[in-house]
Amino acid sequence: LPVRPQGCPIDDEHERRNLLRRVKALVKQVVSPVVDATGWYDRRVRRAVAHAGSWTIVMYHRVIDNPSADPFGLGMCVHRDHFEQQVRYFARHFNLLTVGDACQRLSAGQALPRRALSITFDDGYLDNLTCAWPILQRHEVPFSIYVPTGGVDEGQCLWWDRVIAAMAGTSRSGLDLQEVGLSAERLTVTWAGLDGHEVVQDVLARLWALPRAECERAVDRLVAWLGPVDLLAQGAQRLDRHQLRQLHRAGVEIGAHSVSHPNLSLLGLDELRDELVRSRDVLQAWLDAPVRGFAHPGGWQHAQARDVLAEQGYAYALTTESGLNLAPPDPMNLRRVGMPDAPLADFRRAFGGALVRATPADGVRF
Ligand SMILES: [Zn+2]
Repeated sequence: LPVRPQGCPIDDEHERRNLLRRVKALVKQVVSPVVDATGWYDRRVRRAVAHAGSWTIVMYHRVIDNPSADPFGLGMCVHRDHFEQQVRYFARHFNLLTVGDACQRLSAGQALPRRALSITFDDGYLDNLTCAWPILQRHEVPFSIYVPTGGVDEGQCLWWDRVIAAMAGTSRSGLDLQEVGLSAERLTVTWAGLDGHEVVQDVLARLWALPRAECERAVDRLVAWLGPVDLLAQGAQRLDRHQLRQLHRAGVEIGAHSVSHPNLSLLGLDELRDELVRSRDVLQAWLDAPVRGFAHPGGWQHAQARDVLAEQGYAYALTTESGLNLAPPDPMNLRRVGMPDAPLADFRRAFGGALVRATPADGVRF
């Protein structure tokens, strides 16, 4: 059996983080409904967005109808029922418009509607079409999707989905991080009897820290080491170019999200320019329409990204920095609020909290 070595940073943190997760679950199930019933969470949201010119941009990745699609609860999936409750709430309390439309109004010197809100999806998952779109159509809500173009035509899954599927589906109960190139010294992590959340989070963070080619090699080694996986079982398929065109023709805004979804901060200037320009050009060819928006992959920013985006004619860029955009917003540095997989009461708690408290991006990046 794999051994959990003494002093392993994952183990040192593990008990504390698991306890924190249990406390959060208790808040979600017990405390939030009680406080929400008093109307306090709702009042906090209303107060936060009452400023003239406030603009809320919410961020989703996947909308799922099967909990097995989210084996580790990493924060990128929202269950369909929760999603519909959240969309209904937005439609009732906010004025909805796409990020592109809002930026166009601002650049024409027009004000945004009161309590403006934009819905965004990153990474271009198929479930945005099959699961989220029918709900968004039912509530007549506009939205935008930001798509990494690499691997779309080849039907490839995104690299972290290969990692998640491999770790969820493996019969092994541990992983030697040195063996797969993710640690300089021998470091075995195990997830037998644990929920695995922290282990997967740690492995993904180590992968994000690697340059693009090294990251790809490490993912290949890791997947090979953990054994064959059924990627389709996780439902992590991506939208193909025809589906993107179908959505675009129906009025959905499509924006760029780089080619290979790398950690932009590790790229040289030529690589950076290639990621920003080629992804936009490929999307424009697929859609036969201009693409003006960019979402920074994983929220990582390159010091020169702003200059390259402006020089290339991008109208705006989204970050994953959490918080509300107040007038006048900086179109090249728009904040977003990540949406929790939670029923309405706990959603209102988390949403209101994020609006009043600007924080840097944390947790797992996608
Ligand atoms: Zn992404």
